[in-house]
Amino acid sequence: MTQTIALVTGANKGIGFETVRRLAELGWTVWLGARDAERGKAAVARLEGDVRLVSLDVTSDESVAGALATVQAESGRLDVLVNNAGIGGTWADAAETRPADFIGVYGVNVLGPVRMTSAFLPLLRRSAAPRLVMVSSGMGSFGITTDPDRLESTLHGLVYPSSKAALNMITSQYAKALTGVRVHAVDPGYTATDLNGHRGVQTVEEGADAVVQACTRDDLAGVFVDRVGSVPW
Ligand code: NAP
Repeated sequence: MTQTIALVTGANKGIGFETVRRLAELGWTVWLGARDAERGKAAVARLEGDVRLVSLDVTSDESVAGALATVQAESGRLDVLVNNAGIGGTWADAAETRPADFIGVYGVNVLGPVRMTSAFLPLLRRSAAPRLVMVSSGMGSFGITTDPDRLESTLHGLVYPSSKAALNMITSQYAKALTGVRVHAVDPGYTATDLNGHRGVQTVEEGADAVVQACTRDDLAGVFVDRVGSVPW
């Protein structure tokens, strides 16, 4: 059987780290993307299986080109790309939010996945069953953030939610454009990580469930999914 090869960005901690752990447990070769070499090495040291560190800052063309060269030289193709790296940014009141507040967050959450996808697409195209997984958020969903029964409807901010809404549309467009590539946006659910000062209500293991499912399952209905099933855009 051919070894499945995956790459997860922002994987030295949080949901990305847990995703790498679970995919490696399946016997996959997993590239653990980390922008900081020391944090990356420490993460790999805590994992078992075929986990390989790749230096990767998703805001840098040079860093992404270096990561592509490494994966291409050692693996020759990529089966699953998980664009997980993300930051929260400011959650100031809407009235207090300024254009400058968006720049860093959009750089990581929106332009990062596009930079990664466009760079790695040729390697994904060498796979017999390529997958593109975008780690989005329920905070980027109009349906979820306007549903009074959902916790996400009580969290307010312009920057992070709009970055994930943009990522959702980008994912939807990739899903239509990239013939032969299985494309999913994933809502991990509100998960206790550094991103939210560990206020999330799910464990990291629960948060990674939907990401792992999007990487492995062939029967997911819909493009935007959480750990239970399809969710509204
Ligand atoms: P986290 O624990 O803060 O991890 C974020 C990861 O992204 C870290 O490894 C971080 O690296 C990395 N990162 C940040 N900027 C980067 C860059 N420029 N290049 C490469 N890597 C970068 O957060 P998390 O909760 O696991 O978040 C993972 C994903 O899930 C994000 O896309 C987030 O939006 C999404 N999500 C999270 C929740 C939640 O409740 N936690 C809910 C919905 C969606 P450093 O350690 O070097 O900073």
